[in-house]
Amino acid sequence: MQVESSIIMFFMNYFAVNLLSAQVGLTQLFYLGQAGFIIKSRSGQTLAIDLYLSDCGERIEGHIGFKRLLPKILSPLEVVFDYIIATHPHFDHYDIDSMPFLMSNPHTKLFASAYCKIFADETKLDKKRITYVKPSDTCNAGDYTLHFINCDHGSLAPDAVGVIIEIDGKRILVTGDTCLRLDWKYEYLSKGTIDIMIAPINGAYGNLNEEECAELSGVLQPKLTIPCHFGLFATHKGLPGLFMELMNKKYPDNNYYLMTMGESIII
Ligand SMILES: [Zn+2]
Repeated sequence: MQVESSIIMFFMNYFAVNLLSAQVGLTQLFYLGQAGFIIKSRSGQTLAIDLYLSDCGERIEGHIGFKRLLPKILSPLEVVFDYIIATHPHFDHYDIDSMPFLMSNPHTKLFASAYCKIFADETKLDKKRITYVKPSDTCNAGDYTLHFINCDHGSLAPDAVGVIIEIDGKRILVTGDTCLRLDWKYEYLSKGTIDIMIAPINGAYGNLNEEECAELSGVLQPKLTIPCHFGLFATHKGLPGLFMELMNKKYPDNNYYLMTMGESIII
C-alpha cells in the first residue's frame, strides 16, 4: 500500500501533495491565485474558497485578456474537499469547468450564492450537497462556522456574498468581490475582531482597488491583511507593489502579507 500511494503521489501536482500531506494539528491557509484559497483545519478538514482551476474564462470570454497568466497547480480531481464556497457565479469564483469534477465524489458539500444554482442545475450537481446562501446566513460545516455577509459587486452579481469564517479559534474575513463599503464596518466586525482579512485589490469590475483595500484594512484593523485578485488575467489589473507602498505609507502598523500562488502559511 505504501508503494502504491507513493506512485500515485508521484503523478500528482506538487501543490496537491503539499495540501494532502500538510501536518495535522495546525491551521493552514493555502493560496491558489486570483481569489482562490484553501483552509486546512487542525483536524485536517479542508475548505476551498473561490477556486479557479481551469481555462474556462478564456473560453467563455473569447479573448486574450482572460487567458491565465499563472499556471494550473491543482487538478479538480486531485483533492476531495470537505467543503467548497463559491461567493458568486462569475467564472473565476464558480469555475464551471471544474465544479462538476470537484463535486463528482459523494462527500463534498458546496455553499454557493443564489445564482450559482443556474450552473449547478445545468451540470446536474447533487442538490442534496448544495446550500445556497445569502447575507446573514450562518452555516455549520464541520470544524468551520461560516457567517455569510453582504458583498457589493453591483449589478454584475447582485447575489454575491462575503463570508466570515471561524476556524480553530481564528476569524477570517473574506470580503468577496466588492467595492468599498465602510458603512458595513460593523457587519464586518459583527463576530469580533478579525485575525485575517482577505480582499481584492484589482479595482476592476467594481472591486476594491489597492488604495481601497488598504483603507478597509485601516478601518477594520485585522491582525493580518492578505490582498488577492491580481496577476491572473490582464484585464483584471491589480498591483501588489502599489498595495504594499500604500500600506507602508498610510498604515505602517497594519501587518499585511503577499501570498504567492501555491504558498501556504500557518495561521
Ligand atoms: Zn472575481
